[in-house]
Amino acid sequence: MRNVLAILIPAGAFSRTEAETITAGKSLAAQLGADLSVGILGPSDDSFARECFAFGAKSLTRVEGLAAYQSEAYSAAAQQIAASVAADVILFPSTTYGLEIAPGVGYRLGAAVILDCVGLIGDSSGNLTITKPVYGGKANSELIARQGPVVIAMRMRSVAPGEKQDGATGEINTIPAPALSPRTQILEHTTEDTGSGPKLEDARVIISGGRGLGNKENFVHLEELARLLGGSVGASRAACDQGWVPATLQIGQTGKKVAPDLYLAVGISGASQHLVGIAGARHIVAINKDAKAPIFQVAALGVVDEWQALLPKLVVALTEHKARNS
Ligand SMILES: Cc1cc2nc3c(=O)[nH]c(=O)nc-3n(C[C@H](O)[C@H](O)[C@H](O)COP(=O)(O)OP(=O)(O)OC[C@H]3O[C@@H](n4cnc5c(N)ncnc54)[C@H](O)[C@@H]3O)c2cc1C
Repeated sequence: MRNVLAILIPAGAFSRTEAETITAGKSLAAQLGADLSVGILGPSDDSFARECFAFGAKSLTRVEGLAAYQSEAYSAAAQQIAASVAADVILFPSTTYGLEIAPGVGYRLGAAVILDCVGLIGDSSGNLTITKPVYGGKANSELIARQGPVVIAMRMRSVAPGEKQDGATGEINTIPAPALSPRTQILEHTTEDTGSGPKLEDARVIISGGRGLGNKENFVHLEELARLLGGSVGASRAACDQGWVPATLQIGQTGKKVAPDLYLAVGISGASQHLVGIAGARHIVAINKDAKAPIFQVAALGVVDEWQALLPKLVVALTEHKARNS
């Protein structure tokens, strides 16, 4: 029988990322006829543990004495948690830390490692069918793991958080941090410039700008719109490369993968490398002056016009609408 472990690396309070990872693990564990264990790397408080149980963890393991993030130490700790609960399916979120640690854990366990997965199904014989986008998101591959340990990183927003059962409890265990002299050292921490609004990966609304914006100053229109809609500003690589917005706002193959309810692409052509990043968006709306721009092939709604003709009016209309309804 397989045992499923979800490894969480908290970056503060319990967030949607943790809820998604636990939900994916809970669903897989149910299909395999197993329970879900959760392992926590790094500091977490009791309310974090309560949320883990509410989303479906049956047991939880913390690591005592684990210092600030360091990939070797965290990989070794994750391996020890896996050993302590005899887990052979280990899930990570596809966060920066998750993606760094997962291969290290896979190496230590001699496991198959599959990153950036969007689907996960198990059966009562312990077989796993794992879906992973390939060719820049143009196709999905299905990988089948019949035996042996497997380490999987789930793409963010590929799973909707399940229903919470407040008040659910479970077993809490603590293991000591592994004795280890890491060969690498973190010299400096810098805080990512995520712009205003929610993190792009968590945003329900994203207003994104491309080369068609023309300059840095014009991004103010996107910021106003994002603020009115409670969303965040994103960008194409061309806009980031121009230095109009920080590279941390880049969406696409070499940027963030996002899955908002609404993605408004302004002056973005819709190159395949950009579209990879928005494959999970529910509704794509595009403003582009070129009717043949590829973005219109994926947009549910498109406006063929200069953005200058539309965005300022949209901002005024939304501001008035908000004022009327406040
Ligand atoms: C290995 C690799 C990885 C890459 N990774 C990424 C990635 O992660 N993310 C990414 O975005 N790109 C990525 N790219 C780059 C990608 O191929 C495109 O070059 C880039 O997405 C183009 O950005 P853009 O749509 O803003 O610019 P353009 O392709 O130049 O499009 C600008 C659009 O704006 C429209 N426009 C111009 N003026 C106006 C106006 N006034 N009103 C309305 N519309 C207007 C034009 O009609 C045009 O369609 C990658 C490329 C490579 C090779």
